[in-house]
Amino acid sequence: MNNYAPLDKAFVRGEGVWLYDTEGQRYLDALGGIAVCVLGHSHPAVSAALADQSATLIHTSNLYRIPLQEQLAARLTALAGMDKVFFCNSGAEANEAAIKLARLHATKKNISSPQIMVMEGSFHGRTMATLTATGNSRVQQGFAPLMPGFTRVPYNDVVAIQHRLETDPDICAILVEPIQGEGGIVIPDSGYLAAIREMCDQHDCLMMLDEIQTGMCRTGKWFAFQHENIQPDVMTLAKALGNGVPIGACLARGQAADLMQPGSHGSTFGGNPLAARAALSVLDVLQEIHAEKRAGDSGRLLLQGLAEALSGNVEVRQIRGKGLMIGIELHRDCAELVQKALDKNVLINVTAGNVIRLLPPLIMEPEQLRQVITVVTAIIEEFSGGGKQ
Ligand SMILES: *Cc1c(COP(=O)(O)O)cnc(C)c1O
Repeated sequence: MNNYAPLDKAFVRGEGVWLYDTEGQRYLDALGGIAVCVLGHSHPAVSAALADQSATLIHTSNLYRIPLQEQLAARLTALAGMDKVFFCNSGAEANEAAIKLARLHATKKNISSPQIMVMEGSFHGRTMATLTATGNSRVQQGFAPLMPGFTRVPYNDVVAIQHRLETDPDICAILVEPIQGEGGIVIPDSGYLAAIREMCDQHDCLMMLDEIQTGMCRTGKWFAFQHENIQPDVMTLAKALGNGVPIGACLARGQAADLMQPGSHGSTFGGNPLAARAALSVLDVLQEIHAEKRAGDSGRLLLQGLAEALSGNVEVRQIRGKGLMIGIELHRDCAELVQKALDKNVLINVTAGNVIRLLPPLIMEPEQLRQVITVVTAIIEEFSGGGKQ
């Protein structure tokens, strides 16, 4: 169907941070399949695990125990300080599970028309419930009627949340990204998540974090909420969890972990042996290479390098990021820069119209990070007519 507008470029092979096109030309990947390929392409450990598992057992269904899924659940809950996991196959599905948990929580509280609080500028997926939760009218355009049961407040606005909680007793949960990814790498003030935690406790609401883009070491911690000394009730993961093998997860803690009963929810593929094995190998490697530290260090190198190289550039409004999740906000829309970077053999992304987004594999070496800085600086300087203040 005509729902994507792909660039006229195809990659047929990948190795580490490099992608190769049909002509054998090499490209430096600073996007990582949109925050998916944390370990780069064709990582030998992941490839070997997949090859071995595909020759052993790919799928059985959740009608039987799946030891690899149980192992993965144990590893993830330990890393995140959570209790239980539901596995699915994408980010939107992980958020659907979270939304269903919120509804079950409301049912338990005898709220008959529950509301989930969501944020302006958010992105949570493309299914009917998750596009309703998404704070972007372009994502919702043409899909009315949207789902009932969502109420929206501005992002990074603690007072707005407090006020809405005090005036609407039907609110049963808050769903929020620790950093807005699609929204333009929007980083809230420190203390924002801690404030939400406190308000959720006061009002018996589930604190549900969408860590689909921020999770898996991307921001310099295993999960972005770990930058603040808090625990959510629910957290969703997908993207980097399988380094490209489709897998999503909805983790829950405390009372939220016990809301589902047999029959409440399910997924035919969810957490099957192949996907679980892939994710286990991703966890192995991320732990082995201390990926959260690497992401933090590399992120500082990128941020600092970009800030120096672009200092005084009139087109640049702000350069911001946490770990290897970086946005360069320009004063005007700049979607064309994706092709300009591609012409210089570097993959980047532009989101929210005017934000260049970098989500490189966490294995990217300093020399390659410097190459990204050089190319991104060059295309922005061209874009701004070389203009320095
Ligand atoms: C990508 C993303 C999603 C949707 O994930 P899909 O796998 O495309 O369904 C949801 N939330 C956030 C924060 C994302 O970045």
